[in-house]
Amino acid sequence: MQREMTARLQVMKFGGTSVGDVPCMARTAQILAQGARAGACVAVVSAMSGVTNRLIEAAQRAGAGDKAQGTAVLESLRKQHTEVLQSLVREESARKAIEEEMLEVLAEGRRLFEGTALLRELTPRTLDAISSLGERLSAPLVAGAVRDLGLQSEAVDATEVIITDAFHGGAEPLMDRTREECEVRLRPMLEKGIVPVVTGFIGASTEGKLTTLGRGGSDFSATILGAALNADEVIIWTDVDGVLTADPRLVPEARTIPVISYREAAELAFFGAKVLHPKTLKPVMQAAIPVWIRNSFFPERPGTKITPEGRSIGGGVKALTAIQDVALISVGGPGIVGLPDVVGRTFSTTAEVRANVLLISQSSSQNDICFIVSAADAQRTVDALRREFAQDLAHEKVEHITVDTNIAIVAVVGENMRGTPGVAGKTFNALGRENVNLIAIAQGSSESNISFVVEEKAMKTALITTHREFGLGAAAS
Ligand code: ADP
Ligand code: ASP
Ligand code: MG
Repeated sequence: MQREMTARLQVMKFGGTSVGDVPCMARTAQILAQGARAGACVAVVSAMSGVTNRLIEAAQRAGAGDKAQGTAVLESLRKQHTEVLQSLVREESARKAIEEEMLEVLAEGRRLFEGTALLRELTPRTLDAISSLGERLSAPLVAGAVRDLGLQSEAVDATEVIITDAFHGGAEPLMDRTREECEVRLRPMLEKGIVPVVTGFIGASTEGKLTTLGRGGSDFSATILGAALNADEVIIWTDVDGVLTADPRLVPEARTIPVISYREAAELAFFGAKVLHPKTLKPVMQAAIPVWIRNSFFPERPGTKITPEGRSIGGGVKALTAIQDVALISVGGPGIVGLPDVVGRTFSTTAEVRANVLLISQSSSQNDICFIVSAADAQRTVDALRREFAQDLAHEKVEHITVDTNIAIVAVVGENMRGTPGVAGKTFNALGRENVNLIAIAQGSSESNISFVVEEKAMKTALITTHREFGLGAAAS
């Protein structure tokens, strides 16, 4: 109802490469200014590209007692951001104010690195605080660049608007609370014609502790805000033309898909298509808010529209994706046949540590339960499983808990695969011809994906072969 009564509202998210240097940042400010002249506009920005990686690496060094890398990273961030500031904000006093804000963020960073190195302990909470510095530096810069174009704009720390649970490193939004805070903090700004530039990736727990939504989480921030404000659309500006039929870095013939459904895009994201954080579509599904993926380097190109129903195409298969930062964990041994609750205990354990389980396969002899988790979750999961099965391991009822990281998952995605027999057969024949060895196979219950596990070194061949087999590079869909 509100949507009809108020002006058109867009949430626009700019990823790391879209704010990666002076020309990119300038283009981003132009896109925002154009959007804000046409209606209300909320910006969500990532850290400049590479910054979060550098911060996390330095945080880990500080955890081992070495603060030197942290100091060096902060100094290089100061230089990098000051250069952008000099180029994009012409007025001296405006520059000064932003510089002060940046220096405060950097000083906080210094204290965090020092404290971590002193204690030789990097807690998940401190890691979140350190990883958040990049967004807290980029948001004031983007707001400054938009103001320089003659519009009103203000940086907003997402800790004020996105309220989450307290799970550091992968927090879940509490939507009711988030909606309330957005009404208090963002709505009045929009009514005054101000463009809020919100830090992506970050939130705060109900006790006000800073949390992060997981790596690549700024996409999720954008749809959380889109849903909370009941926006008309969310636009994710990135460095490719949209959702492609495969990762263009691995499959050069990949093409842009003009329209795709929530479900298809969510499957692609879940199985590693980096263009979207896996949870991106969750917040907007219920309100059916369309999400666009567009290229900030070529804003005139139409991009991909993600809608509730998508658009059906012949053949069924829409896109492929692959994920290599994964680990195959196996719990087993002949003795587990006599342990009826092994499956239950295994997956309660993965749930407890919030491991992202991507695929499950159990051999019919029941000697082994195999499943795949993100590499980042592997150690935590195995440690927890070893604790859970400590007794059974000691009594050799469970013989082994092993991890294999030299694997990759390739997923074939398309809603219409349901009605198209033979997709699996066709895929496996093609892979057989190329001598790609299949370690495991799974079909999602939704029948909109078939995923298979291959050796990591065969991943690229598997993608290129399957892409060709289904003619995905040929016709525009
Ligand atoms: P941003 O910094 O804007 O968040 P990301 O690097 O996180 O951008 O995501 C964009 C990248 O995702 C692209 O450069 C591309 O290499 C990769 N990618 C993987 N799979 C796909 C796909 N199916 N379609 C488009 N891009 C993809
Ligand atoms: N800067 C964060 C990351 O690199 C979030 C994002 O870019 O979406 O993970
Ligand atoms: Mg991203």
